[in-house]
Amino acid sequence: MHDGINPLTGTPQSFYFPEDHPLYPGWFKGMEQIIREWGLWPTNGLRCKCPRFKCLQRKGQLQPNCCCRRILFTPPDFTSQRPQLQEFIKSCGHLCDYYPKYHCELNFIEQYWGAAKLRYRVAGRTRTLNAMEKKMLECLDDVPLEQIRRYVSYSPFFSFLFFSFQD
Ligand SMILES: [Zn+2]
Repeated sequence: MHDGINPLTGTPQSFYFPEDHPLYPGWFKGMEQIIREWGLWPTNGLRCKCPRFKCLQRKGQLQPNCCCRRILFTPPDFTSQRPQLQEFIKSCGHLCDYYPKYHCELNFIEQYWGAAKLRYRVAGRTRTLNAMEKKMLECLDDVPLEQIRRYVSYSPFFSFLFFSFQD
């Protein structure tokens, strides 16, 4: 996790203790320490999260300081934090794009997997776990490379159609 911005001071804030820290060298600071450094830790303490993740509301508005999670949920550098894998991919100079949630059919791997499953079903039953594993690997290998490449090249077209008719 990269450094954030301390809203109290406006300076960069590491979320890890320094390597020469006497008790927690290099450890993640945790919610309480981060909120303390922001100057928002109340003297009587703060609960980690509201019961069942349902934060307190007054007059229909969420209370900004009801729990640690609510406080940490709102700063812009936290809300703009990307997953570590995505940050790594971007740091290598690549684009990181995700398929829309619940639409795995847009991923060519699903089509490849479907073709392998069809072969598996047609090939008949197996009696042992080892035979099943061997048969599964054979079915995966049996899908011609040309067919897999076709799935790869059609996949962006399916995505294009998906996004074109989304509204
Ligand atoms: Zn809360």
